[in-house]
Amino acid sequence: MSRPVILCVDDERIILSSLKSQLMNNLGDTYQIELAESGEEALEILEELTESRTEVPLVIADQIMGGMYGDELLARIKTLLPNTHGIMLTGQATAESVGEAVNKASLFRYISKPWDEEDLVLTIKTGLRSYYDQKELRRQACYQSIIHKVLQLVITNVSFEEQLSQALSAILSTGCFSVSAKGSIYTVDLEQADLEWSTKDPDLVMISQVNQGEAPESNVSDGEVGQDVTLITSSPSVRYYRAPITLQGKSVGILYIYIDETHDETPQVKAFLSSVCHTLAGMIRISQYNRALEKHSLNLEQLVEKRTHELHQALRKQEQLNDIFLDVNKKLNYFATTDELTKLMNRRCFFERADAEASRARRYGRKALLAILDVDFFKEVNDKFGHQVGDTVLEKVAHVIVETIREHDVIGRIGGEEFALLMPETDVDEGKEICERVRLAISSNTVVVGDHCISISVSMGLSEVKDEESTISGAMIRADQALYDSKHKGRNLISYN
Ligand SMILES: [Mg+2]
Repeated sequence: MSRPVILCVDDERIILSSLKSQLMNNLGDTYQIELAESGEEALEILEELTESRTEVPLVIADQIMGGMYGDELLARIKTLLPNTHGIMLTGQATAESVGEAVNKASLFRYISKPWDEEDLVLTIKTGLRSYYDQKELRRQACYQSIIHKVLQLVITNVSFEEQLSQALSAILSTGCFSVSAKGSIYTVDLEQADLEWSTKDPDLVMISQVNQGEAPESNVSDGEVGQDVTLITSSPSVRYYRAPITLQGKSVGILYIYIDETHDETPQVKAFLSSVCHTLAGMIRISQYNRALEKHSLNLEQLVEKRTHELHQALRKQEQLNDIFLDVNKKLNYFATTDELTKLMNRRCFFERADAEASRARRYGRKALLAILDVDFFKEVNDKFGHQVGDTVLEKVAHVIVETIREHDVIGRIGGEEFALLMPETDVDEGKEICERVRLAISSNTVVVGDHCISISVSMGLSEVKDEESTISGAMIRADQALYDSKHKGRNLISYN
């Protein structure tokens, strides 16, 4: 890298020679001393130096020269190289020209001819220190601004990859690394990484790069990242910073920044890169948390979906069980209320229904009649033809009764061959008429069983449910007595009591 230049401009060669000799003696180890005999030549030299990116901290210019005057030259240099300091050298400078130079060219000092060497060197050294102090201040301000910019990226609503890409561009924009601005960022693969990495040296993948600034092949994932920012020179033309990105002592990434030969390594650059990597580590951590959160949410959704599915299945099962339960209840209710042989109400059910009718009749002052029917000579049927035929006879009798009575009459089988009939809203005459129809219907039918034709008849006892009675128990007793009368009188009869 070429040394920085102090440019001396004077139209008198002897003065230039004297300046050069004194500067070489005092500053020749660090600086190149360039000479120009006119303002125009000075500008040409500066143009060449700028092209070769050689730094020019200081220009010493004579005021009175043929062609361009010193104050004008310094003013023009100010526009070309705003940070370069200017010192005016003059034997007969007017206050006006010094003032011009101060105002337009930010003149650092002026020195009167003839000068004292010690004074000259001191002034120049002060100027150089001021130049480098200001340069360092600018660099610090730039670093601060870049770190701030990278920090701001953390809260921007862009993807992690985009955040890193913008961060890398910002870092390279400091201009202190290389004109070609080249670099890359490698991080752990967040798709695969857990919040706590189990392996010490995770595989790194390139997330972002600028100007093909990828890492030298052997340098990624070699497990020897270390904790410090390192300047590596792998060949004269390839130099780069390798800055580890670490979280709690574990490597989660590497930042590569390529530099050219004009770059001067300073502790401040390393400190800056170290700060940047600290911020990048924070970005990686936040991104990890976000991804873990997304993954967790997804798992939670899947779990909720699974549980919902299980719940629906359980509900369906419950519905099936409910249907079975209802069916069983229905059957239980049927068997609890129905006479299995005749399908009429059984005794208990008949009494419940008949009592309810009696109660209603009493409440509304209506009439109700109760009849008891008994199959005549049923024991003989059983004895003669067997119980199976007896059952068939009972079924037939039940069928005929149901066919003959009215829809709202209540009929039940209350004993072996005994039936009871409650007729609501019915007076005695109507009741007798219905009973007569039943008696006739049964006696006019015969039951055919195999070769046998069995003639059947019933005896009946009829009684009214009295106005004050809210159950049929009284009527049952009276009807039973009337039935006894019918049996006694010869059967196939209806008696009223
Ligand atoms: Mg002169």
